[in-house]
Amino acid sequence: MATKTTTGFKVPCPLCGAIGTDEDDGLIIEVGTLTLKCQACSEEVSVNDLETLVADTERLIRWLAAAGQV
Ligand SMILES: [Zn+2]
Repeated sequence: MATKTTTGFKVPCPLCGAIGTDEDDGLIIEVGTLTLKCQACSEEVSVNDLETLVADTERLIRWLAAAGQV
């Protein structure tokens, strides 16, 4: 069965950090199973992995904002 995928998310892979371009690397979603996969490291990425990435990103932004106020 041909696997349909969708791409175009400029989101770094939480596991290896690869950021997708239109065709290369980064995260893709297999449409049939809604499985998130990274084309760079071939690992499955869970929503939990993404949430950790978002939480870390927000923490970094807060840290930078706090550092800028000193
Ligand atoms: Zn990856």
